[in-house]
Amino acid sequence: MTVGAGQSALEKSEAYWGLPSKVRYCRRCVFSNQRPLSTNEYLHTTQSRKDTLAFDDQGVCLACRQMDKVMNEIDWQAREKELIEFLDQYRSKDGSYDVLVPGSGGKDSAMAAHLLKYRYGMHPLTVTWAPHLYTDIGWKNFQNWIHQGGFDNYLFTPNGRVHRILTRLAVTNLFHPFQPFIVGQKSFPLKMAIKFNIKLIFYGEMPAQYGDAGSVNEKKFGGATASAGYQLAVADNRQLSLGGVSVEELKKSYGLSDMDLSVYLPLEPSKAQAFDGEFHYLGYYVKWIPQEAYYYAVENTGFQANPERSEGTYSKYNSLDDKIDGFHFWTTYVKYGIGRATYEASQEVRNRHITREEAVALVRRFDGEFPKRYFKEILDYLSLTEEEFFAVADRFRSPHLWKQDNDGWKLRHPIWDEDKEPA
Ligand SMILES: [Zn+2]
Repeated sequence: MTVGAGQSALEKSEAYWGLPSKVRYCRRCVFSNQRPLSTNEYLHTTQSRKDTLAFDDQGVCLACRQMDKVMNEIDWQAREKELIEFLDQYRSKDGSYDVLVPGSGGKDSAMAAHLLKYRYGMHPLTVTWAPHLYTDIGWKNFQNWIHQGGFDNYLFTPNGRVHRILTRLAVTNLFHPFQPFIVGQKSFPLKMAIKFNIKLIFYGEMPAQYGDAGSVNEKKFGGATASAGYQLAVADNRQLSLGGVSVEELKKSYGLSDMDLSVYLPLEPSKAQAFDGEFHYLGYYVKWIPQEAYYYAVENTGFQANPERSEGTYSKYNSLDDKIDGFHFWTTYVKYGIGRATYEASQEVRNRHITREEAVALVRRFDGEFPKRYFKEILDYLSLTEEEFFAVADRFRSPHLWKQDNDGWKLRHPIWDEDKEPA
């Protein structure tokens, strides 16, 4: 098994990847200061964290402060007016595509495409980077989006043999099954926009709402060049890595070709400059509340929730299309102590749907629940045995987060014990 270059360094330190050694929780939501590495950070073989989820002097996280603006401060009527004036400059007169909407047909992309077409009179082309393994409900929602919603769509499915190799490496080297997927999915829309000569790319919800990047008051996602490949562009793709293995090494030791890798890698800046358009988030212009996106998608694009709740959380309508989704959240639980319920409950606190006490109870009950439903299929997909899988997982448990007793692994500082901790 090939191990990422960062591995030996990781095992020596108490808090892996430069995570803060003291676990702190936001006073408003249930997110901690152990923010997961970003996609950009994962593009380099040596992983280390560049910044932290900032807490202000009242102990409130950046994502909560951004959501305060969304909920209370922004004049949404003025923002919509701004949107209409902006779209007027791009709307095609002959019905040709004038905006590209990347998405899976989940609630957010379904609503984004639908609003742009039916409320704002645009002519969207939707593009989709396929999941590793479609769930039944994910495939149905994707089909409903196209058929009931009424959109043109290009579904791109990367070479399954290559994708399996990269995903397996991403699990064993990074414990991040989605890393190659995310890199490919983020650079894909720009490539399609250039191909179809579309000058506008619109996403739905803003990452800033989750404290990720930028601010909810920033409407444009970088400049044309900065946004090349969704902020992933670098001068030289050979510096990048997929699944924790450098591009050069993937060609040398794994028999992958430039062609195999090119669908994942961002465009080089010289080619990305062929795009003289803009990336925007509809969430900048329209108040974006996940639950409302869900109701909108149910009504307008035939979106369906799962009949049963997703493993690791209490909800039924977020991230449903890929059988690997549940594993992705379980890996963030292992690496950062932040599982699926933490993400969702934090967001619902910020939207004022639940209290912090309720969120803590949900996290205690569901976070880190092991995703059993597709486990066997995932192991087959990754060509790993169960023992191998759990051995990999244990390598990624940072000692400052986890302790092991007779019943197995326990978080040292779970949120429901936060008040018991010495200051
Ligand atoms: Zn918070």
